[in-house]
Amino acid sequence: MSDSTPRPSVVVVGGGVAGLNAALYTARAGFETTVVNAGESILRRNGHLENVPGFPAGVNSRTFLDLLEEQATEAGADLVTGEVVSLRRSEGRFVADTAGDEAYAGDYAIAATKSNPGYLDGFDLDRDQHGSKTYVRADDRGRTDVAGLYVAGRLAAEPHQAAIVAGHGAKVGLSVVEDSDVPYYHDWVAPEGYFTGRGRDVPPGVEEIDEGERAERERDAMARMREAFDERHPEEPTMHPSVADDADE
Ligand SMILES: Cc1cc2nc3c(=O)[nH]c(=O)nc-3n(C[C@H](O)[C@H](O)[C@H](O)COP(=O)(O)OP(=O)(O)OC[C@H]3O[C@@H](n4cnc5c(N)ncnc54)[C@H](O)[C@@H]3O)c2cc1C
Repeated sequence: MSDSTPRPSVVVVGGGVAGLNAALYTARAGFETTVVNAGESILRRNGHLENVPGFPAGVNSRTFLDLLEEQATEAGADLVTGEVVSLRRSEGRFVADTAGDEAYAGDYAIAATKSNPGYLDGFDLDRDQHGSKTYVRADDRGRTDVAGLYVAGRLAAEPHQAAIVAGHGAKVGLSVVEDSDVPYYHDWVAPEGYFTGRGRDVPPGVEEIDEGERAERERDAMARMREAFDERHPEEPTMHPSVADDADE
């Protein structure tokens, strides 16, 4: 973003599908974005991911997740490892305390841990219990009853599908941007002249790029995709713990 409005910060708890996509959108909007993640996305258990947009023959879910991490990082998000044991308010900010005694702060917080929301116990949030699963209630943009605290993905009771929680993460990231003072329109890249060719200013959030820049970005994208898909992913799917335990016996 090119305007000079100071950018707030956001701490995202959980760096799976929803959290990484939320972080992608806040980081691209210029927010100082920290993703605190412990463990791995449940999607690493998948056998072959065949229902996310853009992959007609499917994609290895571990490759997909690696690329999501790369994309969020490239957008400017800081990905750190840590199990968040408590999220609290301090001096008007959210602070995520980890089991390792590190703490990460943000003006906004997005909870995207799929389950186990015990770290949110300090807030009086409405929850829904479905069997062993606990979901945190939020409006259709991920806003909880606590101003500045959002919930994304499976933890917000979204359907258990990667494309849906990815989209929800993006939507919640945009909600944070839209709820802030940052002037925001759309996170778009347009060809040169799309707005200016009609005598219009390029709206906040939009970038116009010329032919040279388009060619450079496309070549870079092609090279990086070739590299990402050159070899099979080295990791096996993570097995369900009960199956893995049986296998050890
Ligand atoms: C075997 C299997 C196959 C699947 N196959 C498909 C499929 O083919 N297609 C499809 O659409 N969906 C599939 N899914 C579903 C998909 O994986 C999930 O819907 C999706 O990953 C949910 O995204 P999420 O971001 O809500 O949670 P996750 O992706 O699980 O991310 C949550 C993250 O938060 C971290 N975390 C948890 N607690 C903390 C904490 N206290 N502090 C910090 N970090 C924490 C977790 O370690 C994880 O990294 C499959 C799931 C399984 C189990």
